[in-house]
Amino acid sequence: MDASLRRMFGDRFVDDPHVVSLYLRDAALIEGGAALGVVFPLDLDEVRGVVREAYARGAAIYTQGAATSLSGNAMPLSGGVVLSMEKMARIHEVNTYDGYVVVEPGIRIEELNLELYRHGYFFPIDPGSHRAATVGGAINNNAGGMRGAKYGTMREWTLELEAVIPTEDADVVRVGCKTVKCRQGYDLVRLIVGSEGTLAIVTRATLRIVPLPQNVVGMVVQFDDMERAEAFLRLMRQGRLSPQFTEYMDEATSGMVGLPPRHSLFIGVEVDRCAADGTLEALGAMVARSGGHVVDMSRDTRDTVRLLEPRRKLFAVSTREAMERCGKGCLIIAEDIAVPPSALARTIAEIREAAERLGMPLLMGGHIWDGNLHPRTWFPREDSERGHRFIRAVMEIAVKNGGTISGEHGIGTLKREGLAMELRHRGSPYAAELMRRIKAAFDPKGILNPGKLLPEDT
Ligand SMILES: Cc1cc2nc3c(=O)[nH]c(=O)nc-3n(C[C@H](O)[C@H](O)[C@H](O)COP(=O)(O)OP(=O)(O)OC[C@H]3O[C@@H](n4cnc5c(N)ncnc54)[C@H](O)[C@@H]3O)c2cc1C
Repeated sequence: MDASLRRMFGDRFVDDPHVVSLYLRDAALIEGGAALGVVFPLDLDEVRGVVREAYARGAAIYTQGAATSLSGNAMPLSGGVVLSMEKMARIHEVNTYDGYVVVEPGIRIEELNLELYRHGYFFPIDPGSHRAATVGGAINNNAGGMRGAKYGTMREWTLELEAVIPTEDADVVRVGCKTVKCRQGYDLVRLIVGSEGTLAIVTRATLRIVPLPQNVVGMVVQFDDMERAEAFLRLMRQGRLSPQFTEYMDEATSGMVGLPPRHSLFIGVEVDRCAADGTLEALGAMVARSGGHVVDMSRDTRDTVRLLEPRRKLFAVSTREAMERCGKGCLIIAEDIAVPPSALARTIAEIREAAERLGMPLLMGGHIWDGNLHPRTWFPREDSERGHRFIRAVMEIAVKNGGTISGEHGIGTLKREGLAMELRHRGSPYAAELMRRIKAAFDPKGILNPGKLLPEDT
């Protein structure tokens, strides 16, 4: 296969092992397998060329955006070729009247937004990795992020997809509509969104965009315990405040970013300019009533961006802490459960109990308004039994409390067993069978991102 890819792509097929090694892992930092090379297509026809070739030889294709996934979604496992979409990164159309943008999958979310800001618009999905993450990767992970509180996940923002299906002739589908309302039989757009590169290769996407809000005010508030934080969140909901973001950091992580070591909430609310002071006063009153402390506040969007900076460091500081305390040979896990918001305080308490019982380190943060928590833990690879017991316990706590094992990072290799557990818990093992059949219908030879996403019974 490498000879034909070299013939087709010239020096856009790379098999230098030093370069290939850069594409063998994603941000989960789990060792991947091998790949015979990395190919960099420029357009739809070139993607189809790779698919035809791989289909004929039964070779695996691991499609990658920026490989910032955290569950082993993007790394190659068993040879085959890495299909890097980084050179397919053009914006084809910005249509502010109809409220959409047409892009290639390799464009980074931040680059897309830098263009949209010039039109007074933005694309609101905002994973912590937005500077690196690509639209194609975000679609395939159904990414969410900080603004999920108001804007949800990629699912709500993906209108149309052009994608290559791994058939003998590398068939192309164009599914969805440019309109928000769209009935087109089974919803193939939503099936591909979140499919982690296992069903189709996305080559073009139409995404919804919205005008930039007039103003976003913000506040950093702290609480001595989770009960008070929960009381405050309840007051916000009762007051019908609909924040753009409400982010959480536990006491230890707050200390690491230079805040007093207490439970911290970072809140942003979209308001008309004239409503800024009133909104901040209302928030301040809720903080006082629930026994919290206002640490910082901002009256305009630019200042609110500054206010969120400590929260944006969550991943970096917790990784650094894990590296310092455990060393290079450790597995550092970013868990990703989601529970109904009413079950949050209970879930956090139970995860802490489990960590204490098993003697596991724990740092916690997350997108608390939509119930999405990222407990972080780490353990030496050679002593992984206890670590994996803890991870299983975290997933079981989420499911028992009415939640799910993954809010936004996806299943990858890390959560296949957890997904099977969740489906069993819901009395829905047949859903696993349906997923296998859907995979076979799209990908009869099983060549797209094999070994990922499908529930695995152990
Ligand atoms: C510091 C940090 C913070 C993060 N914060 C968040 C967060 O707040 N919210 C969140 O949701 N995620 C977060 N993530 C996870 C990850 O960054 C996002 O899911 C991101 O959208 C992935 O984009 P990517 O380009 O890196 O995709 P990749 O990791 O390259 O790929 C993701 C998946 O999509 C597939 N894929 C990629 N491109 C295509 C394509 N064109 N066609 C078909 N399949 C494709 C891959 O095979 C893989 O399964 C974070 C990660 C890090 C490291």
